[in-house]
Amino acid sequence: MTCLKKFGAPSIEELKCSPGFPRDEDYRLGNIAVIECVEQIPCNPCETSCPKGAIKVGNPITNLPTIDFEKCVGCGICAAKCPGIAIHLMNVNHGEDKALITFPYEYFPLPEAGDRVVLVDRLGGEVCSGKVEKVTCPKSYDITALISVSFDRKHYENVISMKRL
Ligand code: SF4
Ligand code: SF4
Repeated sequence: MTCLKKFGAPSIEELKCSPGFPRDEDYRLGNIAVIECVEQIPCNPCETSCPKGAIKVGNPITNLPTIDFEKCVGCGICAAKCPGIAIHLMNVNHGEDKALITFPYEYFPLPEAGDRVVLVDRLGGEVCSGKVEKVTCPKSYDITALISVSFDRKHYENVISMKRL
């Protein structure tokens, strides 16, 4: 049984077998979208919202999304538009030993830039602390807020979201 079926979240090993997840060399491109969409659901706002045509779902609409990381400019639109909260951005070169994660966040109140937060893994376990660098508030009902948090780079494969201190 997969970790997704057993625990409700995929393992890193499962994600690395999915077409929207970066390989090690893709992270060297800078701030890129990381797609963690591993169930074949009828959905494609990631594809239709990307201004660079980097994401493809195609036909049938139940295809898993693929991404051309060379085309991704890290704008975050796909992450804000994905109804499944299945996309975040990762920049593993945010300063000397820091990475920057930008993830969709549906809870209020939103944090503010400068806040200290706890970053959590896919099962909600605490991983490390981080500093909120930027908050992008939604301007319409179909867009999710994006929170950018800097943290110790060594945790980049594990962190996925945050909880407030
Ligand atoms: S971050 Fe922007 S450019 Fe990159 S895949 Fe998402 S929408 Fe496209
Ligand atoms: S919009 Fe989100 S949930 Fe829908 S196919 Fe794309 S990544 Fe998956």
